Amino acid sequence: MPDLKVLILGGTAEASQLAASVLGRHGERIDLVSSFAGRVEALRPPPGRIRIGGFGGAEGLQRYLMSERIDLVIDATHPFARQMSRNAREAADRTGIPRLVLWRLPWPRHPLDRWIEVDGLEAAALALARLGRRVWLTVGAAELAPFAALPDRWYLVRLIEAKAPLPLADCTVIEARGPFPLENERALIRRHRIDVLVSKASGGDATYAKIEAAREADLPVVMVRRPLPEPGERVESVADAADWISARL
Ligand code: NAP
Repeated sequence: MPDLKVLILGGTAEASQLAASVLGRHGERIDLVSSFAGRVEALRPPPGRIRIGGFGGAEGLQRYLMSERIDLVIDATHPFARQMSRNAREAADRTGIPRLVLWRLPWPRHPLDRWIEVDGLEAAALALARLGRRVWLTVGAAELAPFAALPDRWYLVRLIEAKAPLPLADCTVIEARGPFPLENERALIRRHRIDVLVSKASGGDATYAKIEAAREADLPVVMVRRPLPEPGERVESVADAADWISARL
């Protein structure tokens, strides 16, 4: 019989690292469930149990937490997964179940970075109008529509899985999963003669090399600002999140 039931809202490298760390420390004393939205078919499951698919809003998550008798909720979702984080806060507040946000630190801005910071993808597409024709787009498959309207653009799009046709008239798609080494990113910029990179301010090590490669090549980067984290208890490292769970055993 486990001492604690923990739900990790995942879909990030940190969430999977946390599952491995907690089970490595405490083994069967913790019943750990990692939850995924189900956007990626070739899931790399972390240790412990997994569940896949939405809960049905904050109410659905609330019902899940009660019926599964969850003791702790860790919101280790991506910094741009705003809806899931909001639902987690609401459901945890209503049930009184302790919730921790594992918040990935943003990338620091280097003095030589040429970032154009914007709020949202529509603003990113607008900013591109003056920034070159060959664009490397590193946003999600569901976020490409604002870029379709720009005339005379060629896009390099990198996705974990390209499931459906993209809304872009002229593009090359690469299917790949991070982490991406710096040499890989330098080579992509050279081979595809990239003029400008579009990125979300995701933070994290796995995708930082593209930012370094753009800096080296003196390329502008249209950087979509991240939303503020949900209020509540928050840590910024996997180790601190694992300690937070350990302290509740
Ligand atoms: P979102 O807009 O915040 O969430 C939309 C809905 O998807 C949620 O309301 C929830 O459905 C479901 N959902 C999201 N994350 C879930 C999870 N971990 N477990 C179960 N259901 C989940 O999220 P998103 O931006 O589409 O991101 C989806 C997933 O991909 C997240 O897990 C996130 O960590 C990961 N991810 C996102 C990005 C990004 O740039 N947004 C990048 C890398 C990875 P219900 O309301 O039905 O519960």
